[in-house]
Amino acid sequence: MRNECNIIRDILPLYTEDMVSPDTVSYVEEHLKSCEACRREYEQAKEPGQTKGKRDAVPLLKLRKKMAAKKIQTILLTAVCVAALLVSAFAVLDAPIYLPYSEGLVTAEPVGDGGLCLTFDEEVTECDYDVYPDPDGGSFYYCDVQAWTSLWDRWFSDSNGKLSATVSPGEPYPIKAVYIPNDGNETVCFYGDADYEGSIVLPRLSLGYYLFLAVAALSWTAIMWLLMKKNAGLRVWVERVGLYPLAYIASHCIVSGFGTTSYSLPRDFFLIIFLSLLLYGGLLLAYGIWRLKREMKEIDQ
Ligand SMILES: [Zn+2]
Repeated sequence: MRNECNIIRDILPLYTEDMVSPDTVSYVEEHLKSCEACRREYEQAKEPGQTKGKRDAVPLLKLRKKMAAKKIQTILLTAVCVAALLVSAFAVLDAPIYLPYSEGLVTAEPVGDGGLCLTFDEEVTECDYDVYPDPDGGSFYYCDVQAWTSLWDRWFSDSNGKLSATVSPGEPYPIKAVYIPNDGNETVCFYGDADYEGSIVLPRLSLGYYLFLAVAALSWTAIMWLLMKKNAGLRVWVERVGLYPLAYIASHCIVSGFGTTSYSLPRDFFLIIFLSLLLYGGLLLAYGIWRLKREMKEIDQ
């Protein structure tokens, strides 16, 4: 009988948790009917507030906390994704589409004290100009003009006549010639004397430089990650840091496409930084959710 009691007490914890086969259930029940000592043992184990139950509560509490954290992070991730999508859409829709020069794209008429009135074709929805003194020291100015439109303007802007702008140098020197970029690096003089080569509006390459830095940073974090095989804690931080260059590269591709040229550097750079911060937040949240899921699985087991 003593031997059977020992077996029953070994099984009792599982029995109280309903984790035994039907055969074992009937075996235990049979024994409990006939043995008072074991029955008392069983009654005690069934009571709530046992030390064993308390031990179980700790991982359960942890699991609940992690589930709550996961829920909050998922909500935040959704918000960040929506914001990133809106900013991306804006970046694409608002991207300047430069119009190659053609007859009548822009005309200039003299006004006032050496000033000029620029009138653009209806196709043009936005313009910019730059007035600068003669590099050779002559008493006159040159002017560079840029004319562009955007997908947004093409699709949604109701055409309200021709765009015009008044250029006044501010000093009583006349504007001798006005230039506009044509295709690529060429500029066309559409007003005045073209004896000066004109300042060529070169696409600035700084975005390529930042992109290169981002790729270098990503490679660096990848190497650090490989070197830290044995230190899981540090690896997590390397992964978190490495997500930023990844977000930057993705933002660059969304804002500037796969090229690195930009005619409007401040706009592009601002958009890339803004979008990359949003994407970085999203990536960090997604990474956090993924880690929580993994930890929850571990607790569950
Ligand atoms: Zn017994």
